[in-house]
Amino acid sequence: MTDYRKIILGEKDVPEAWYNVQPDLPEPLAPPLHPATREPIGPDDLAPLFPMGLIMQEMSQERYIEIPGEVREIYKMWRPTPLCRAYRLEKALQTPAKIFYKNEGVSPAGSHKPNTAVAQAYYNKQEGIKRLTTETGAGQWGAALAMGCNFFGLELQVYMVRVSYQQKPYRRSMMEVWGAKVTPSPSMTTEAGRKILEADPDSPGSLGIAISEAIEVAVKEGAKYSLGSVLNHVLMHQTVIGLEAKKAFELIDEFPNVVIGCCGGGSNLGGTALPFLKDRLDGKDIRLVAVEPSSCATLSEGLYEYDFGDSVGMAPMLLMYTLGHDFVPPASHAGGLRYHGDSPIISNLVKNGHMEVVAYHQREVFEAAITFARAEGMIPAPETSHAIKAAIDEAVKCRESGEAKNIFFNFSGHGLLDMSAYDDYLSSTMADV
Ligand SMILES: *Cc1c(COP(=O)(O)O)cnc(C)c1O
Repeated sequence: MTDYRKIILGEKDVPEAWYNVQPDLPEPLAPPLHPATREPIGPDDLAPLFPMGLIMQEMSQERYIEIPGEVREIYKMWRPTPLCRAYRLEKALQTPAKIFYKNEGVSPAGSHKPNTAVAQAYYNKQEGIKRLTTETGAGQWGAALAMGCNFFGLELQVYMVRVSYQQKPYRRSMMEVWGAKVTPSPSMTTEAGRKILEADPDSPGSLGIAISEAIEVAVKEGAKYSLGSVLNHVLMHQTVIGLEAKKAFELIDEFPNVVIGCCGGGSNLGGTALPFLKDRLDGKDIRLVAVEPSSCATLSEGLYEYDFGDSVGMAPMLLMYTLGHDFVPPASHAGGLRYHGDSPIISNLVKNGHMEVVAYHQREVFEAAITFARAEGMIPAPETSHAIKAAIDEAVKCRESGEAKNIFFNFSGHGLLDMSAYDDYLSSTMADV
């Protein structure tokens, strides 16, 4: 088969199990630490925050974990997602490379995030939980979890980073359509929020602050907390992306030489790249690339050390690349990439030389987004555009070297609710953070 624009698998090809990379990591993960005692924590320490089903996945050494039937049925509403070939972009760039992307923007929420939101809602429901709390940056995670909670009849309280709450009013509307309650963060409704506002009444907020608020409310009010990225079980749920991609590449008898994902907490990158790690370890010619914003360059500029997952030090400490738990990144349009830390799994792979990192400034990212939109039609989310910029750079390198590589990136979400960011770019008023 050589004549294809996109490869669409059948519903039977929706994976039956998630891939857990932990047993295949070249160096084992370091345990999370208790924020107060700094001792390694066990399942019981996490029980106030998460249902046991997810805690067990977080620590599991099983290579494959079966996807529950109810979750798989919901996945089938939009999965498998297409693996697309960006012919028109290749042409525009005059590159001998082949450019592929997996379109996760086709989910109802418009991003990859429902892949874990639905699973997390399911496991909470299984254990009789009635209410969840969470944080959201750009609103993608809040929207995805609102949809997941709605499907399983759970209530949801969302703390939304204030700058995004103002910039992206329609994401708030989406969450409310799916039945969630949304509060801008920092807020006066929590101790953590009040503390931040006392020090800085104009705080734009950050994911770290919003996480603190969501955790505080979960613990005080007997709800559970849900995190949309960073944690091992979240990356595992996202491996449906890479597993489907592998199958689709097999159908056309191709294999990627470089796998690219934008990286906020690492979930879409992990979900796309981790199923290819074993191939790399087995000696295949394949590079894995994380792309982050220069304004929050955790992997490029952070330290590899234990840090709190939130801003005020209530969340467990994780060994990861971090800019410091009190780092508040400058306001940028890629709200989903503004996290001070990073997934321990992604950090581990970067530290051990199995994943490369690039960072880009905001304007060059939007320039790439426009190039992509004019060639391929689809308008990418600002976060996704980081991966697109890296894919374009790889394709240009191929033009210069004459190499016909296969470049594969994850199209983590569409940008149709980010049009004010595009206005900002097109009117040349965009700050170049
Ligand atoms: C949230 C989000 C990201 C960043 O989150 P990761 O956990 O790093 O994947 C990237 N792209 C889109 C569209 C998002 O919504």
